[in-house]
Amino acid sequence: MNRSRNLAGVSLDNGLGAFKTQISYKAIRAGGLATEINERDSTRTCSVCLTVHPRIGLRVREWRCGVCSALNLRDLNAAINILRLGREALTHPGNLTVAGT
Ligand SMILES: [Zn+2]
Repeated sequence: MNRSRNLAGVSLDNGLGAFKTQISYKAIRAGGLATEINERDSTRTCSVCLTVHPRIGLRVREWRCGVCSALNLRDLNAAINILRLGREALTHPGNLTVAGT
């Protein structure tokens, strides 16, 4: 179904929605919380100096920051940025949106 142009987005949205619901359920059940982070620009933001770079093609798996010269591995860099955003949301509760409530 994901190969169909018309149904691919619907199918992926439903799967992602179910995944988010499960994550929230598990977090609350364990006494924690879950929050949704806007991952926009997480790939092209240098996780060392936080400079946002121009668009980076999907085939580019690593890139060097033009500001701080850090070598960023695409997926690891994005994960570090998302983790930072999550931690910031926890330390600034006013920005915290708890999923599943
Ligand atoms: Zn940098």
